[in-house]
Amino acid sequence: MADPAFIHSKILSNHGFNGIFTLRHGGISPAPFDKQNFGSGLGDSDNNIEHNLHRLIIAAALPSIPHQAIQVHQTDRLWCSGQGHMHQQHADILMSNQPNTAIAVRVADCLPVLLADPKTGMIAAVHAGWRGTVAGIVKHAIQSMLEYGAKRKNLLASLGPCIGPCCFAIDNETATALKESTAGAANCIFHTPEIHADLQEINRLQLIESGITGVHIETIRACTACDPERFFSFRRDGKNSGRHLAIVATPPST
Ligand SMILES: [Zn+2]
Repeated sequence: MADPAFIHSKILSNHGFNGIFTLRHGGISPAPFDKQNFGSGLGDSDNNIEHNLHRLIIAAALPSIPHQAIQVHQTDRLWCSGQGHMHQQHADILMSNQPNTAIAVRVADCLPVLLADPKTGMIAAVHAGWRGTVAGIVKHAIQSMLEYGAKRKNLLASLGPCIGPCCFAIDNETATALKESTAGAANCIFHTPEIHADLQEINRLQLIESGITGVHIETIRACTACDPERFFSFRRDGKNSGRHLAIVATPPST
């Protein structure tokens, strides 16, 4: 059997949600976007991207193509329902509480965070780069879920692959802003003597600060910049980097 073209979130699937993080292989995009690129306007053809999407829907058993939005490293959210498409709207948090709905964020080094509440069937997909992390984007996403009836104690989170502390070099100003984003974040900044940061761990701390139980948080440890076989990386490949999708879908209504 061929390698799956994505990593499954175990914590989400154990609770009835389909959560995936795509890998490089499994699509038809040519170099340098080989092979499973989902970023349009980068140089890859829209036909390739559409083909990759339809292939992924079948491989991952998604209800439809996922809803996506224009990502601008801010904290706006977009509620989605049913059959997905590309929304011409700014949002780095996509949300749904409707059955058979898939939502996604695009990443290449930024951290994707998938959230779900098994009691209400509510989901969120969050695009957390360093700017989003500084803005506490996962805290905003959780606040929205709570406003719509989710309970902290039920919430599940999956932190996908992103640029690791080994490769994520930042300047002083960014380090200061990240440190201030949540309690304990200072321990996630390393002086080697270059300054490096652990985005996943800072976001995990923000989830804990928001009241999410530690055992309800899954962290998929993999550095996108270190592993060109499996991952696109904007830091590594710049404008030649493709984009991954992180997708979470609600189950059909029963
Ligand atoms: Zn690395």
